[in-house]
Amino acid sequence: MVRARRSTLAIIFVLLDFCSLLVYCLLCCPCAQALPSRVRVKLFSSHEALPEIYVSAPFQIVSPVQQHISAGVFRIATAGGVVVVGPLPASHSPSHSPSHLPSRSPAAASVSQKRAILRARQLVLSGISGQLLHLSLQPREAPRLYRGNVSFSPASSRTSSLRGNICVGDRGAVLAVNEVDTRSYLISCVGSEALASFAPEALKAQAVISTTLLERSAGRKSSDYLLDNTTEQSYLGATAERPEVRNAVDKVFGQVLFYDGRPIEVFFCSTCGGMSSRPDVFGGVIKDSAYPYLREQVCNYCRNSPFFKILKSSLKPGVFAAATGLRGVKIVSSHLGRPCQVDVDVDVSGQSTDDVAQNGRKISATAGFLPPVDRARRSKQSMTGYDFWLLLGKDFGFGFVPSTFYSIEEQKDGSLSFLSKGSGHGVGLCQWGADGMARAGRGYKEILQFYFPGTNLKVAGAPSLYH
Ligand SMILES: [Zn+2]
Repeated sequence: MVRARRSTLAIIFVLLDFCSLLVYCLLCCPCAQALPSRVRVKLFSSHEALPEIYVSAPFQIVSPVQQHISAGVFRIATAGGVVVVGPLPASHSPSHSPSHLPSRSPAAASVSQKRAILRARQLVLSGISGQLLHLSLQPREAPRLYRGNVSFSPASSRTSSLRGNICVGDRGAVLAVNEVDTRSYLISCVGSEALASFAPEALKAQAVISTTLLERSAGRKSSDYLLDNTTEQSYLGATAERPEVRNAVDKVFGQVLFYDGRPIEVFFCSTCGGMSSRPDVFGGVIKDSAYPYLREQVCNYCRNSPFFKILKSSLKPGVFAAATGLRGVKIVSSHLGRPCQVDVDVDVSGQSTDDVAQNGRKISATAGFLPPVDRARRSKQSMTGYDFWLLLGKDFGFGFVPSTFYSIEEQKDGSLSFLSKGSGHGVGLCQWGADGMARAGRGYKEILQFYFPGTNLKVAGAPSLYH
């Protein structure tokens, strides 16, 4: 009897010790925060404003009324500060009428008078019984599919974009935000950013990267939603889900890359072309990097990438100047084959500074590459090699010069020749390289150590570590 009591007491003490350790770890250990169970993502965020969105039935209205819609395509727009759901415009298929809504429904009360099915400050939709919600920006466009709920509301008067704050409220734009469970979000991100045909260990490495991006985003967001474009990471909803990707995410769920006690700043690209780069190339000045885990890495693992071979592109005389308002392109400095500084002549003859800002659209509109034009010496400007590459992509397509690993040569006849190798900015993990490493028998931890040396893996929110 006494022995039994001692055993019970011993078990209680062990449990108390364990609880104390757990509380200590949760409160004091510099481990990652637990991943949120759900995330909110602003949809179609590459568009500065969404005048309308189309939803295809079947779906259910979750709020402000609860109602199943069995058939039809409906237009969601805003008017007078509220969201309006209505039938397709007359120019589109007449077969999709609002008559599919039950006429006795409160939401359908105003159909006959105003042709609006529903007006609300905020509308929340979802698929029915686990089915997916079908959304598109055009009625005949292939829809994107979404899990969870999607809320629609008038876009606020100011919203952020890649180019800073812009005013969209007066244009009647719709804000669409998808609330979805974190696992589905990560599966979609990996499926949106990587090829499902990549080897399983490469997909696991990408899944860790996606989780790390989410961990960092969740800790620094000022708004209450993520963006679905590459500002954070691409998220195409359930459209991008694949069994291979789902399996990879499940195997490494919650694992985050850390350096010096913090989730790392993650970069990745399609194909480095033989050597990865460091993030300093974005600013055009190579210095002691704030990212010791992002160094140049000789990488021949990406040789099976379709972008590994050198690509030649050219522009006939005058084409570049006509498209960009720039002339006389010259690479001034490079780092390991990636241009750092590019000099250009701004075509400002006979124009005021304001005219240049307006007519030289590509200068000001392409992420504000150039400083304000200096009247005294405004014909010569300098931009980083990275910004010049973005400018080429916006004006001629990113397939024209796919990589920041490029050179430029002006021919005698005035035409421009470009050589490039790889695809993307070359910083961080090389996706095709990760696939090559995986096919050579390397595991995802080795892959991540190769591209992010000195980092370690932790499970978000747990004190146990994966080194
Ligand atoms: Zn590579």
